Amino acid sequence: MTQEARKIPYTTTNTGIPVESDEHSLTIGPDGPILLQDHYLIEKMAQFNRERVPERVVHAKGSGAYGVFQVTNDVSQFTKADLFQPGRRTEMLARFSTVAGEQGSPDTWRDPRGFALKFYTNQGNYDLVGNNTPVFFVRDPSKFQDFIRSQKRRPDNGLRDHDMQWDFWTLSPESAHMVTWLMGDRGIPKSYRHMNGYGSHTYLWVNGGGAKFWVKYHVKTDQGIEFLTQDEADRMAGEDPDLHRRDLYESIAGGEAPTWTMYVQVMPFEDAPDYRFNPFDLTKVWPHEDYPLIEVGRMTLDKNPDDYFVHIEQAAFEPSNLVPGIGPSPDKMLLGRLFSYPDTHRYRIGANYAQLPPNRARSQVSSYAKDGAMRFEASAAARPYAPNSYGGPAADVGRFGEPAGWATAGEMVREAYALRSADDDWGQPGTMVRQVLDDAARERLVANVSGHLSDGVSGPVLERAFQYWRAIDKAVGDRIAAAVSGA
Ligand code: NDP
Repeated sequence: MTQEARKIPYTTTNTGIPVESDEHSLTIGPDGPILLQDHYLIEKMAQFNRERVPERVVHAKGSGAYGVFQVTNDVSQFTKADLFQPGRRTEMLARFSTVAGEQGSPDTWRDPRGFALKFYTNQGNYDLVGNNTPVFFVRDPSKFQDFIRSQKRRPDNGLRDHDMQWDFWTLSPESAHMVTWLMGDRGIPKSYRHMNGYGSHTYLWVNGGGAKFWVKYHVKTDQGIEFLTQDEADRMAGEDPDLHRRDLYESIAGGEAPTWTMYVQVMPFEDAPDYRFNPFDLTKVWPHEDYPLIEVGRMTLDKNPDDYFVHIEQAAFEPSNLVPGIGPSPDKMLLGRLFSYPDTHRYRIGANYAQLPPNRARSQVSSYAKDGAMRFEASAAARPYAPNSYGGPAADVGRFGEPAGWATAGEMVREAYALRSADDDWGQPGTMVRQVLDDAARERLVANVSGHLSDGVSGPVLERAFQYWRAIDKAVGDRIAAAVSGA
């Protein structure tokens, strides 16, 4: 049968020119030298050499899918954000990831998981770039780079190093809540489908009348929370390093679209100054009994990307993508991320990353951006400046309300958040250890921590680690110390 009859396309160069062979380079006779005029060969080699973009410094290994978010409750009294209005259905993209491991690292290493959501709303993209944890290791963005370096590889030997990790953690007591979480069962989810997501930061919601509320997002798995033990995870790291990526892809391909239900905790704006915890401190949760969960809607992931690189590797999530009705809070980590995420994308993928398929808004884009590497959409404006009298876009002042923010004043300082009555680094992790975990989960926590500490942690750091755990919970700290010393 001819190729035409088989209905497969003929191979071309990147510019559509038919190629003469899929297999043979152009030579002088079959044994002769290769000719520089073999443009197709050179194009193939050059393209191949450039196939990778720099991997993310954090959250490098990821998996993702498209889906839809359906509002199931009326939260319009708290926000005017278009995507959260009653009955609204919004298309979306989700990307899950590990944090410290590189692109080829196993999915089952103990690590927090990224939980990044992009909603293609009628008023531009809204990104909720969270984790599977409601808290984080540090509360000031100036410590983030230090924290990540302590979890990555040592400069001299290129190895990951538990000593470095515990050195940083034990010198940074604000990490205690997150470390307790990480070392517990939820530190290794069974799959991406079996974990919750949290916005983690506090955000500002503004309703149609201009009233403001502080909110925290909880995106709970409808598949149920399930986890892997350390032993199971260690085994799977060898048997199937791509376990979580495979699970997500195959579930969706097999017609089992995973779902999550989104809730928010809502704090009246005026509660914040007197709440016993600093409500903007990323190392703290708001206890459920103070601010119960209110359902918002359900997200369903039902469409695998047809090309991993195009849709997931190039996906660019940024907490700075906030739409009318949603704003940032005084959480210092969030404010730092508003800068660092778009900065990463400009470096990693290029200035015009917002035009790529996963990042492109599905509502109108009429910005004045122009030019730059790989620009492929013409500028939206006939004249590249505002104001202009040639029909260029003009801000619709007042239509979408005031900027979502808060009043503040004071001297410039470099200081920690002022402590509130219940603010300390050990209280909430202690509550988790004593009141949330059952005996079996506490046992696994002790085993996970003592196993980790028994692997290359030096004497002084080890002593500090025992004190750290005793400060979280005396009994658990003593058990960890006994387990390590007896190890
Ligand atoms: P609650 O008893 O109302 O909530 C405890 C929550 O702990 C549960 O709702 C569940 O969160 C979560 N949880 C259960 N098992 C584990 C585990 N193995 N590892 C991590 N989290 C687990 O109490 P409070 O709201 O007063 O919080 C008590 C402590 O619980 C906090 O100090 C914090 O450490 C932890 N926690 C609190 C959350 C909050 O937002 N208030 C959220 C998660 C944990 P979920 O329902 O989200 O699955």
